Amino acid sequence: MTVVNTATLTAPDEMYQALRAKLSDVVPDVELRIKSELAAEINRLKREKNAVILGHNYMEPALFHSIPDYTGDSLELSRRAARTEADIIVFCGVRFMAETAKILNPSKTVLLPARKAGCSLAASITAADVRQLKERFPGVPVVTYVNTYAEVKAESDICCTSSNAVAVVESLKTDHVIFLPDEYLAQNVAHETGKHIIFPTRQPASAYAELDYQLIGWRGRCEVHEKFTVEDIRNVRAQFPDVAILAHPECSPAVVAASDFSGSTTAMIKYVERTQAPRYLLLTECSMGDNITAANPDKEMLRLCSVRCPHMNEITLEDTLEALRLNRYVIEVAEPIRSRAARAVERMIAISAKD
Ligand code: SF4
Repeated sequence: MTVVNTATLTAPDEMYQALRAKLSDVVPDVELRIKSELAAEINRLKREKNAVILGHNYMEPALFHSIPDYTGDSLELSRRAARTEADIIVFCGVRFMAETAKILNPSKTVLLPARKAGCSLAASITAADVRQLKERFPGVPVVTYVNTYAEVKAESDICCTSSNAVAVVESLKTDHVIFLPDEYLAQNVAHETGKHIIFPTRQPASAYAELDYQLIGWRGRCEVHEKFTVEDIRNVRAQFPDVAILAHPECSPAVVAASDFSGSTTAMIKYVERTQAPRYLLLTECSMGDNITAANPDKEMLRLCSVRCPHMNEITLEDTLEALRLNRYVIEVAEPIRSRAARAVERMIAISAKD
């Protein structure tokens, strides 16, 4: 079977045929026709402007399977952003991801198709919060999840993603690590590495001197993943006892423990591809289930689609076309924040390259 690279198709009818072959079970035909026109025009403009499109795994299926030159999770897209030769990077994801692309490519134009595509986790912490923690726990290295804004990355020693968080923490070889800002990811990392974690209040660090802890966390949460419960898992297993349940590490430790597998979005995709369960349930943003179904038509996916990321859903084909036409919305990261943040991101990429 010939694999069509949809990211290069500029004829609407060819795009429609390619999308129909992949998505006819997921997207209604009338919508596929409209989206094919948009996608073909985006690809034409992309070529004309020497742009590259990076698409996060949470993008809606018609976008995910048509225009991105590269798809993946935050880590893969960070690596791609670091290597691109294009003049313009269009980031079909949320603001902190586009910022990461700009941090790694200061001379290129980085566009985010929707101005409002934020993130509850990134909004949960500021650079001043990190500075306060560093004052209270002097000398303790700061690991920051990439789901943060540039100012927070700039205060950090190293970044991590959900796929390399354990490796990054272990690479530091220190007695204590500040791990920010996701409460649940931090607890899951603590569990996996056998470390104890505290979530400090306003008390001075001396108040914790008697406690046995190695990780210092922060109570930020992803508004999508925090909603999944053990009760959801119980209900689904009661109806489908043979289901394999996959949870993102931004879910609570109780949800992760009740699941069959936990990993980043890319790790989840690989798990589905490599295993043969009668059906799967993904505890993550719903579009990813559609995208995995499209890529694995023989696999049955169950989804809890009442839980959606409002920020990822801001990114549409329509807005991506306007972004390319009008060169909007341009992401800027001022110096010296950019270069300080770049050190933390590049240090993470260097560690991940050794995987
Ligand atoms: S899914 Fe959660 S972590 Fe990802 S962008 Fe949405 S709110 Fe942020």
